[in-house]
Amino acid sequence: MAEARTAEFGIIGGSGLYEMLDNPEELDMDTEYGKPSDLISLGKINGKGVAFIPRHGRKHTITPQNIPYRANIEALNKLGVKRIIATSAVGSLNPAFIPGDFVFPDQFINMTSGRQDTYYDKDRVAHVSTSDPYCTQMAFVESKQADFANLKYHDKATVVVVNGPRFSTRAESTFFKSIGAKIINMTQYPEVTLARERGICYSCIAIITDFDAGVEEELGIKPVEYKDVSAKFKENMPKLKSFISTVIGSVPEEKKCSCGNSLENAFVNV
Ligand SMILES: [Zn+2]
Repeated sequence: MAEARTAEFGIIGGSGLYEMLDNPEELDMDTEYGKPSDLISLGKINGKGVAFIPRHGRKHTITPQNIPYRANIEALNKLGVKRIIATSAVGSLNPAFIPGDFVFPDQFINMTSGRQDTYYDKDRVAHVSTSDPYCTQMAFVESKQADFANLKYHDKATVVVVNGPRFSTRAESTFFKSIGAKIINMTQYPEVTLARERGICYSCIAIITDFDAGVEEELGIKPVEYKDVSAKFKENMPKLKSFISTVIGSVPEEKKCSCGNSLENAFVNV
């Protein structure tokens, strides 16, 4: 019975992270929102129970707009996950945010459309607060550990989330910069807000893989191609794995954030 098993942490990210788990068990789960992106690996990292979902599927066959976001978060919820660490490749909209840097975003701007982005679209209506969508306690731990590890990172950054799968035009990129976004990504929304609707802490460890179109122009470099993004992410994988393991080992058991209280005053009909 897959549902009888539990994990404290959830990781959603690229398939290269499997090998972080010690002796993983594979779970074929189903939820009322459908099946998650792929089999879920359940194992341990740094002594803690971890459930891992490859966001785009093991063979990277799911595009950002077709990711079963609701099923992924619900599957982790069913496993008892209390905290999610999401990893993401992001583009930079600021010349000071350079490829290889880590980013722990604290805000997002949603520019996606057509995604199923709530669990409360029938029977019960809930308006969950997302003023601070990312877990502040986890972000604090990540910044502190990044300091100890001497990693170059940026916190308190806004990520703009776009549908993809294409990259931005120069005009779009210039617009995103003008509205305050520092990085750009295709998958943070609605992953982060669905986690909030389930009261699960969510944090993102993003790695900058490229400069977005408008910044390339400013820096006089060539437009980004997927192979460059993929190569940059792979290059940083060992650093990422070691950092995730440290963070999992450092987050205090006791929650000192409000992520878990998200539904307290959110329902229209109690
Ligand atoms: Zn939290």
